[in-house]
Amino acid sequence: MNIHEYQGKELLKRYGVAVLDGYVAKTPEEAEAAAKKLPGPVVVVKSQIHAGGRGAGRFKDDPNGKGGVRVVKPEAAKEAAAAMLGHTLVTKQTGPEGKVVNQVYVEAGCDIKRELYLSILLDRETSRITVMASTEGGMEIEEVAENHPEKILKVAIDPASGLYPWAARKLAFGLGLEGKQVGTFVKFVTAMYEAYTALDMAIVEINPLVVTGAGEIVALDAKVSFDDNALFRHKDLEALRDDTEMDPKELDAVKNDLNYVALDGEIGCMVNGAGLAMATMDIIKLYGSSPANFLDVGGTANAARVTEAFRIITSDSNVKAILVNIFGGIAKCDMIAEGIVAASKNLSLSVPLVVRLEGTNVELGKKILAESGLAIIPADNLADAAQKVVAAVKKAA
Ligand code: ADP
Ligand code: MG
Repeated sequence: MNIHEYQGKELLKRYGVAVLDGYVAKTPEEAEAAAKKLPGPVVVVKSQIHAGGRGAGRFKDDPNGKGGVRVVKPEAAKEAAAAMLGHTLVTKQTGPEGKVVNQVYVEAGCDIKRELYLSILLDRETSRITVMASTEGGMEIEEVAENHPEKILKVAIDPASGLYPWAARKLAFGLGLEGKQVGTFVKFVTAMYEAYTALDMAIVEINPLVVTGAGEIVALDAKVSFDDNALFRHKDLEALRDDTEMDPKELDAVKNDLNYVALDGEIGCMVNGAGLAMATMDIIKLYGSSPANFLDVGGTANAARVTEAFRIITSDSNVKAILVNIFGGIAKCDMIAEGIVAASKNLSLSVPLVVRLEGTNVELGKKILAESGLAIIPADNLADAAQKVVAAVKKAA
């Protein structure tokens, strides 16, 4: 789950990470009031969307205009906010369709001396929470990794010992910090690690981390995303979810506890088990079509979940056919078959439906499908199922 910059900063601040003062605003008037509360001489009005590259981004209806992050005099904050709110911001990360800005963050202006990069994430190669730092702040880290990998400093953290002060100091020296800044940085990154572990974050990225004219170190940007599998431990964080930032089908799936990812193909997939779901998408590709979604209904697939899954799949207008691929282990095939029949009737399914069942009570399951009177296309194995569903799509086209 991703959250907005202002929410990320608020959380980080609770753990002692240095951020500037700021206020979120949903209207130009609120932005004006916020700017008045800040010290000046300038404030920064920042579009809040779940994507980076806002500074260099451009508004759709204003191609020659300014970016999604603007440094202005306090009295111009209202106008800057009005130019952002309700408008679609296109950045390198949003894709060409862009994202509508529903709120802005009005933040104190910062006297920037240096822009650095700092993030904490889980490195899958070493299975360690890892701190990454670079002197190349403000640039996308992927670009730095590609062109100047030597400019990325990494510290892998042993979960038993946590982040050692000496390791944090080593990073500080690597970033060219000196004097008092070293201690300030150690405190900063230690607080950030504290927030990362306490809140089960997946990534926290501060880009840029700045050294101010006064020698302070502050987070000027904050990208925070949480490990979805740990969200149950943080009920209060769920309130930070911004439904407008999510694909409506994915949101629906989250609410129904289904693992669903929207894709842009034409074959809706309903599968149990993430591995089988991946294999199903691969084989659809292999036979010349593409999946409209990834969907794992889980090991506890029952009639109700199957119906929910069908509802979400069919709400996607790109879906030209559906492939159900279920291996009945704990979930028995007859139960699944009943769910499929009930769902097809309930939703009066209008696209071809190919079903491959395997596992416990498979014969009974197949019988239920065959006797349902529905035009379900049965398949015997994965390859057969994929070929049949691709053929059904080609025929419909
Ligand atoms: P994004 O990464 O989405 O472009 P940032 O928050 O990193 O957004 O802002 C882009 C740039 O705007 C920063 O690199 C920094 O130079 C400038 N900026 C952001 N916030 C402030 C601030 N409070 N004061 C001064 N400059 C800022
Ligand atoms: Mg940034």
